[in-house]
Amino acid sequence: MAYEYDSENIFAKILRGEIPNSTVADSEYSLAFRDIAPAAPEHILVIPKGAYVNFDHFGIEASDAEIVDFNRLVAKITREIGVAQDVGGQGYRLITNAGVHGVQDVLHFHMHILGGRRLGRMIAT
Ligand code: 5GP
Repeated sequence: MAYEYDSENIFAKILRGEIPNSTVADSEYSLAFRDIAPAAPEHILVIPKGAYVNFDHFGIEASDAEIVDFNRLVAKITREIGVAQDVGGQGYRLITNAGVHGVQDVLHFHMHILGGRRLGRMIAT
């Protein structure tokens, strides 16, 4: 079953400028902004500008240029916000949720960058 992208999702509206966001970085194919309900001192969402539902949709259908742009932007942000270890940071976590078991709320692919405190175990039991 092919993915169907709902262009009325909240991140699509952010990309169209219909609702405001706190932009951290903007590249050719990707946008990064602060999560509206931060779960850590640093909580940034990185999204592709293209219409992809989740990680596997993006990984299969996006162009190499989009994928490289996205990954480079995630890495760049970890340095800019000071969580990357090679700039003296204490590290971070990347999370992307997909589907029902992944508990994905917004159906536009996004990567959470979380940092600024010790985050505990990966999965709450
Ligand atoms: P998911 O559960 O889909 O992985 O995560 C969706 C994230 O989007 C949540 O962390 C939530 O706080 C964030 N979010 C939902 N609506 C908005 C919004 O309008 N603006 C911003 N910046 N973040 C949002």
